Amino acid sequence: MSSNQGIFDRLKDIILDALYPPRCAICDALLPVGARHFHAECAAGLVFAEQYEDGGTALLEYNAASRDMIHNFKYGGNTPAASAIASLIDRGGDVASRITGYDMIVPVPLHAARLRERGFNQSELLARAMEPICGVPVVAALSRVRDTKKQSLVARQLRRPNIAGAFVAEAGLVRAKRVLLVDDITTTGGTFAECEEALRSAGAEEVGSFAVCVAGKRDAVRRTVSRQ
Ligand SMILES: [Zn+2]
Repeated sequence: MSSNQGIFDRLKDIILDALYPPRCAICDALLPVGARHFHAECAAGLVFAEQYEDGGTALLEYNAASRDMIHNFKYGGNTPAASAIASLIDRGGDVASRITGYDMIVPVPLHAARLRERGFNQSELLARAMEPICGVPVVAALSRVRDTKKQSLVARQLRRPNIAGAFVAEAGLVRAKRVLLVDDITTTGGTFAECEEALRSAGAEEVGSFAVCVAGKRDAVRRTVSRQ
């Protein structure tokens, strides 16, 4: 990078910071000068997740800090939070290596009605922030052909039926491709499984998934242990 380019980028940052003072992606308060993405004490509440299934990768455990971060991002209009979340990927053990080697990133789509209501698809913003990390483009290869109840409002055992047949993939875009699905939260993995089914029936060769948060896994493990 030439020094002129460096000065230009620095100026651009100063102007953008003045226009849109950076907020903490977790507590949403203004950040002190020089801080990026989070207060250190807020970020200390994030817990990195373990790999949770074959082909599936999650970055964080769903806890108070990650819940606030996703909430601000999804409902509070703190959209620069997408790059804050992406900045965590390098710190998440082998996460960065697990989300490379794909041909494209495909965000889990919202139904058109919900997209109109929210104004953006949080998974697409995340996917775009991940492009430089994954080194491949975001491709809107999936569409949601059926509006469904929010998975978080549906009983666990009814989640898969709730979402069954909700997605269709465009064969011309995904045939023989390796696809990384991206979503904000996964619990039972039902949404990813449905998306994968749509992608595979459109000819995708390989389908992996990345969720920012995985919810409920620790409880599941605890329950298993206590039954023994
Ligand atoms: Zn904070």
